[in-house]
Amino acid sequence: MATLTFWGGVGTVTGSKYLVESQGQRVLVDCGLFQGLKELRERNWNPLPFDARDLDAIVLTHAHIDHTGYLPKLVADGYRGPVFCSRGTAELAKILLPDSARLQAEEAEYRNRHSLTRHTPARPLYTEDDAYNALNRLSPVRHEEKAFQIAPGIHASFFPAGHLLGSRCVLLEIEGAGEDKSGRKILFSGDLGHTNPLVLRDPDPPAACDYLLVESTYGDRLHDSTPPDEALAKIINRAAQRDNIILIPAFSVGRTQEILFTLRKLEDAKRIPILPVYVDSPMAIEATELYLKLAEEFDETLLDRAHRIPLRTRETHFTASRGDSRRINEARGARIVISAAGMMTGGRILHHAQRVLPDPSATLLFVGYQAEGTTGRRILEGETEVKIMKQMFPVLCHIERVEGFSSHPDYNEILVWLEQSPAPPRTLFLTHGEPAASASLNKKIQQKFGWNTHIPTYGETFELV
Ligand SMILES: [Zn+2]
Repeated sequence: MATLTFWGGVGTVTGSKYLVESQGQRVLVDCGLFQGLKELRERNWNPLPFDARDLDAIVLTHAHIDHTGYLPKLVADGYRGPVFCSRGTAELAKILLPDSARLQAEEAEYRNRHSLTRHTPARPLYTEDDAYNALNRLSPVRHEEKAFQIAPGIHASFFPAGHLLGSRCVLLEIEGAGEDKSGRKILFSGDLGHTNPLVLRDPDPPAACDYLLVESTYGDRLHDSTPPDEALAKIINRAAQRDNIILIPAFSVGRTQEILFTLRKLEDAKRIPILPVYVDSPMAIEATELYLKLAEEFDETLLDRAHRIPLRTRETHFTASRGDSRRINEARGARIVISAAGMMTGGRILHHAQRVLPDPSATLLFVGYQAEGTTGRRILEGETEVKIMKQMFPVLCHIERVEGFSSHPDYNEILVWLEQSPAPPRTLFLTHGEPAASASLNKKIQQKFGWNTHIPTYGETFELV
């Protein structure tokens, strides 16, 4: 008997962990950290409902922390098997997992300083050493579209998902599974990208499968139909006339590179003036170098003669050191500063925000999702004063927003993707969504295709008949 159990990424967009069991073999697809609400984050601290040492293999769809961030803990708890992933995912994890460990340490330190802990002293969920031990288990796959054995009787193959550098849909083939013992195939969408992502290869259509898990992050939303480059050009031109700074908070991995790529495209088409662009985030610099290394990830039409993708504008300055970062403040005139964190929850962006927010001729431009409770969200919602590093600042600058850079598909794009399935799955599972988003997409899928669908709950086990 083969089963599938949902240990995360259901009822929420975080903590993705899907356990497949068949003939004594146990395979975990994704190993994400729960984030956001406190009741979810507490799950990271609860003992796992299975023993880390009993797992035979782990497969990762992509490197985002809500899909990989629990891995260091699992390895610290005794997992000694391989972690299969694409080359891009392995490379990005080298940047993101140690960073996640540093954030855990900062959070523990904060709790200790403010006596916010039940345990004294508060400890991080895992350390940087744990993160490096987890990286040692990564096994990047070479010929990923051909099925390869990940455990006895279980094969995997990968297909581009268009969501992030290295992101893949994962197809598992389980020998002898099902009532007729003919084997069963499960396709995990992971996180999907747009139908036409900006820089990455387009997602592959769904492979033939018996069971399909599809993400539903924006299952109840349609994106703004204005192309992001058009929206961006309009805002940059308007802001440039004010001859002042344009500050863009952006996640260092993925979004920053998309913005650089789009700005360059607009400059080359003479749709915006050539402005100095400062990228102020050490992690963004590392990630940009990595993007330049992995040509296989990109839409071929975008590569230049040297088979590289242009990820810098005509006048880009990457600032690694804090000294360089301070020098940006001395610059004058129309200029663009891209910095992290993307939701203004910490990082170097806060130093820039202190100068930009009270300045009526400056521009703050959001290009990513701003979650509830973040400084970015408060500014977007029109608060006239916000707290930055314990000090209140009036919000007098121009606030702008471009929506089209989202890395998840809206419900129309998901329906278009599903429509390309070679045959209806026996069951389609809606995962990776807030309850309202999953329910809304579920209804649309049933109306359009009449498929057998199910919205799993945390800890639910499903027999793969
Ligand atoms: Zn993701």
